[in-house]
Amino acid sequence: MPPLSQSVSEELSKRLHQARQDLLHTVRGRTGPQGDDAPPIGTLAHLGQPDDGSQAEMISHNEQHLAEHESSLLHEIDVAIGKLASGGAGICESCGRDIPEARLLATPTVRLCIECQAQLEKDQHTGRGPSM
Ligand SMILES: [Zn+2]
Repeated sequence: MPPLSQSVSEELSKRLHQARQDLLHTVRGRTGPQGDDAPPIGTLAHLGQPDDGSQAEMISHNEQHLAEHESSLLHEIDVAIGKLASGGAGICESCGRDIPEARLLATPTVRLCIECQAQLEKDQHTGRGPSM
């Protein structure tokens, strides 16, 4: 018996694909103009000043951090889509129990049931000592 009802499965699939699209759109929008609107590179290079070098470096460094965060998010989404396709969605990765549909709908990339998530957070909280 599939753990998820057809309607929930479809809704999750829709949300995950939407989230994936939004994420890719955001990343693409920031990586700079690559379409027909792109200004000729020659013009920009001509206007460039020596100081722009370090500034550009800082910006690209920040973008790298965002890209790492986004690529891990994208991975989460892909995993969730894969599980949905293989019928593994809605099952806790830790204890194997069903994850409530309401929880899945609230967070489509969720992998753990509420109990395991709470336990994990408790372990992280007590295991590492005061990190704040
Ligand atoms: Zn669990």
